[in-house]
Amino acid sequence: MELPFAESWKIKMVEPIRKSTREEREIWMKKAHYNVFQLKSEQVYIDLITDSGTGAMSDRQWAAMMLGDESYAGASSFYNLQEMIQRLTGFEYIIPTHQGRAAENVLFSYLVHEGDIIPGNSHFDTTKGHIEGRKAIALDCTIDAARNTQTELPFKGNVDAKKLEEALEKYADRVPFIIVTITNNTAGGQPVSMQNLREVRQLANKYNKPVLFDSARFAENAYFIKTREEGYADKSIKEIVREMFDLADGMTMSAKKDGIVNMGGFIATRLQDWYDGAKGYCVQFEGYLTYGGMNGRDMNALATGLDENTEFDNLESRIKQVQYLAQKLDEYGIPYQRPAGGHAIFVDASKVLTHVPKEEFPAQTLTIELFLEAGIRGCEIGYILADRDPITRENRYGGLDLLRLAIPRRVYTDNHMNVVAAALKNVFDRRENITRGVNIAWEAPLMRHFTVKLERL
Ligand SMILES: *Cc1c(COP(=O)(O)O)cnc(C)c1O
Repeated sequence: MELPFAESWKIKMVEPIRKSTREEREIWMKKAHYNVFQLKSEQVYIDLITDSGTGAMSDRQWAAMMLGDESYAGASSFYNLQEMIQRLTGFEYIIPTHQGRAAENVLFSYLVHEGDIIPGNSHFDTTKGHIEGRKAIALDCTIDAARNTQTELPFKGNVDAKKLEEALEKYADRVPFIIVTITNNTAGGQPVSMQNLREVRQLANKYNKPVLFDSARFAENAYFIKTREEGYADKSIKEIVREMFDLADGMTMSAKKDGIVNMGGFIATRLQDWYDGAKGYCVQFEGYLTYGGMNGRDMNALATGLDENTEFDNLESRIKQVQYLAQKLDEYGIPYQRPAGGHAIFVDASKVLTHVPKEEFPAQTLTIELFLEAGIRGCEIGYILADRDPITRENRYGGLDLLRLAIPRRVYTDNHMNVVAAALKNVFDRRENITRGVNIAWEAPLMRHFTVKLERL
């Protein structure tokens, strides 16, 4: 018989986790103001709040940590990292930062000004925050199909070339650059095809605009290109990665995702003017140019992580686990953004909690219910995360309202996925009885989801 699939690694160190009772969880949730970001991690049994900085490093990465060079200037760890990034992406200039949003902050301090329009596929929340915080506009030009969770498309994260061209024509000089997020996190970890990246490049050339990739999950994107796009089956992940970045002028990176480190990020670019413009802000906000907010040991671990996670076997182990959870949800008839994305399953809360009105935040309600059911912490990617419109200050109900179950890399086994699926099924089975959601008692003006205080209705 054909041998079943198994992970391309074995486990060398374990961390105990603890179950809790429903009574305990009721108290904890109330104390946390029904915001899962306010829970203590020890109150969580299976933590799927994010795949960011939560991955398990390999023995090679831990070994690289011990060789970290903590020199203030000119550390060998920086040159290791720079060489790896140059080799993978072809970008000449590298600025390390402490995480992805810091890369955005440093680069956008140079590039984004009041009144600018930055078109692309769906902007990640910190990206949008850094754009809107500078009184500019993040213009979402994702294909319409991404908004229907039940449509199966191989590259549902794509930019709609027609929308992009209209924006470039209409806003002309107000557009400093185009941004493409790979994979498209907000649309459900959905990949962008090489064909689409090429179309974006052609439009960028036509209108003389640079292209920036928000690259947190570039390796997962390359996996999908290899396995889904014609002509790429026989190419290595590293070859595909290089071909992707050949279509961009620069990247911002949250290394906490596809770098498989717990903290870190960087800017990389081939444009000297971006580098010269950004580097002063790096010194101002992050640190000197050869560490920019990272330890030497962390830069070493990142260099190794980037190398490992641009290998097919490692990516296959990861994506297959996400697909395994999706299969379970299929068995139980639970609707999620189809097909399964690279790093998470996004449950379509508006199709599950049909009796909870949108003003009472169905996805947040489902997030709370799943925690109360089994101590599983997911994360709302919906109307609370969407923040208010910067001009009208109205809640934005235009997008999707999803519960994200993000899977940390190399951390949980498929048995944990079985528990997650069963807990979700239990909530799903009693969905008809869930008729009320939550109300906002307090919120921050920007990126409110981290600190929002809610009341149960
Ligand atoms: C996580 C993420 C960021 C921000 O990175 P941090 O490391 O969390 O600051 C930016 N863009 C995308 C697509 C992300 O997933």
